[in-house]
Amino acid sequence: MLKVLKFGGTSVANLEKIKNVSKIISKQRDEGHDIIAVVSAMSGETNKLLKYAHKLSKKPKKNELDMLLSAGERITSSLLSIVLNEHNYKTISMSGRIAGIVTDDKHTNARIKSIDVKNLKNEIKNGNIIIVAGFQGITYNTNRVSTLGRGGSDLSAVAIAGAIKADLCELYTDVDGIYTTDPRIEPKAKKLNKISYDEMLELASSGAKVLQNRSVEMAKKLNVNLISRSSFTPDVEGTLITKEENIMEKPVVSGIAVDKDQVRVGMFKVSDKPGIAASIFSSLANEDINVDMIVQTVGVDGKTDLDFTIPTNDFEKCKNVMEKFVKDTQKIDYNEFICKISIVGVGMKSHTGVASKAFSTLAQEGINIRIISTSEIKISMIVEEKYAELAVRALHEAYNLDK
Ligand code: ADP
Ligand code: ASP
Ligand code: MG
Repeated sequence: MLKVLKFGGTSVANLEKIKNVSKIISKQRDEGHDIIAVVSAMSGETNKLLKYAHKLSKKPKKNELDMLLSAGERITSSLLSIVLNEHNYKTISMSGRIAGIVTDDKHTNARIKSIDVKNLKNEIKNGNIIIVAGFQGITYNTNRVSTLGRGGSDLSAVAIAGAIKADLCELYTDVDGIYTTDPRIEPKAKKLNKISYDEMLELASSGAKVLQNRSVEMAKKLNVNLISRSSFTPDVEGTLITKEENIMEKPVVSGIAVDKDQVRVGMFKVSDKPGIAASIFSSLANEDINVDMIVQTVGVDGKTDLDFTIPTNDFEKCKNVMEKFVKDTQKIDYNEFICKISIVGVGMKSHTGVASKAFSTLAQEGINIRIISTSEIKISMIVEEKYAELAVRALHEAYNLDK
């Protein structure tokens, strides 16, 4: 088989762990597989480098940040290559550029445009184990290093697996699969054998950072079968992320995600006239601020209330944009101490009462819901951040996810 194996930051956190990863790779090699390993930076490294940049400048240029951050993954790829050589395995490490990953020009959050698999194919033919530095590519127009957004090594692995038509893509992390909720929040969380792309995408987009959401989107598009598993217990079977039709039993609720990195923006008594919402949200979009939930109440006396949420990272930028709209509203109020709880399941399409159960469960715990939004397979609720863990545990029990 041709396998793409991805190792996240915690799996390569120090030299001992890099040695451990080399054993997982060499074992698979001995079993006869061709291997492309994709690695993250050692855990904490990307944050450390970011902090350095921000110590030197309030607003470092994004292309320089990419040059800086991409170094983290390059360090790991060469170290892993070195340790495998030490055990007489033939390897070649590659930066994103050499691996042929071409992106658009959006530095720090670039999208992959194409992958030229020529070098990858040649080196497989030469009998090498390939170790690719994840999270990076080069820009199509300017030929500069780019990075793929936080958690982007997942995307590197999936995109390479899709482009080279690998038989399997295994993502090794510090948990042995996808659980019904973050096992660090709810120890009673249960591991899922399989989960559909759509459900995984919703969980990942709602704060379950076990997989980067864009990588799941790409896996679905390119039909890459993904396995999430642990590098600490590599013999334990992980979770398969696959097409919905490959899953026989469809639970009503598959999982619960929590996202604490949200800020609620409340605009009170906004002028209720055509074009206001368009103007606010296009101004935010122009600054690349990703607005998540939006609620507008029914207007009274020419005024309406408008609430929306944005990622905490964009808080400062958002405040600057909102300056422009102070004159159109009585008050703008920001709340950083909120979180979003999302319940996800394909079975919701054909079941009723799923949402009302969520509302009554939180009511019983005395938790007030500030914003609600629903889609075919997801219910999301904004609550105060201090209730995050309590809400997750109560909902986990209410939907019998621990059974
Ligand atoms: P890596 O460094 O390997 O990319 P991450 O830290 O990005 O790993 O993701 C793994 C973490 O995701 C786990 O340690 C776990 O706390 C968290 N997580 C959140 N939701 C889930 C879930 N539903 N199932 C498993 N892990 C989850
Ligand atoms: N090192 C990058 C990050 O911390 C990419 C990754 O780990 O996937 O976001
Ligand atoms: Mg990750």
